[in-house]
Amino acid sequence: MNIIKKLIFSFLSAALLASCASVPLTGRRQLTLIPGGQLAALGESSYREVLAGSRLSSNREQVGMIERVGRRIAEAAESFMIESGRRSELANYHWEFSLIEDDNTINAWAMPGGKIAFYTGILKLMDSEDEVAVVMGHEVAHIIANHGNERMSQVILADFGGMALSRLLDEKPEETKNLFMTAFGLGTTIGVMLPYSRRHEYEADEIGIHLMHMAGYDVQAAISFWEKMDNLGGASVPEFLSTHPSSRSRIDKMKKLVRKLEG
Ligand SMILES: [Zn+2]
Repeated sequence: MNIIKKLIFSFLSAALLASCASVPLTGRRQLTLIPGGQLAALGESSYREVLAGSRLSSNREQVGMIERVGRRIAEAAESFMIESGRRSELANYHWEFSLIEDDNTINAWAMPGGKIAFYTGILKLMDSEDEVAVVMGHEVAHIIANHGNERMSQVILADFGGMALSRLLDEKPEETKNLFMTAFGLGTTIGVMLPYSRRHEYEADEIGIHLMHMAGYDVQAAISFWEKMDNLGGASVPEFLSTHPSSRSRIDKMKKLVRKLEG
């Protein structure tokens, strides 16, 4: 290897190392190229766009319950981040929880920056606040595990490998926005999230169950809720199942986590 190549190689490795973070709790190494503040701003504007095109629930009791569970889980997540020495990341989270009026949509999703939405369709299937906390914990977990950043970073590497990241983010707001839309599957059908990978799903389950446990919810609800979702499968697969494939192995993994926590 000649000296120039060596220099370029070491520079590139340093740049990649600098952007290689780790996931809270699981410690898995991940590539996150987007500055947290910038990703949160993109998440915020997409969240507003989805809400502007949706009908929000006017059921005060249910809206209040979603907010209450959301705050409790987010508080647990923040204490967990502080205990793990990641206090500086909290500046990027401005938690907001919405309930969208749509009984036919069995779904919930999260955007970077701490924005979470539930549909009344999924709420109808929940028999207790603990079951709401199962899905809330899972969604908050996707956020604190930086799954959105990782996904967008993968799209950047695939589509924009040669383009300097700073140029992309600072000088090309249109491209950056499109990139976000692609990474989150918001391009054509707004509000429909692209499925996370299985690895992200299991990781969000694991972190989510810890969060609901920390927040004082009954972790057994994770098993009852996912078993119920599993039984719903078949002919009409709800959105939440198509983006969150339920399976026996997933429920078995969850049972192990619950047993570990209840020691
Ligand atoms: Zn998920």
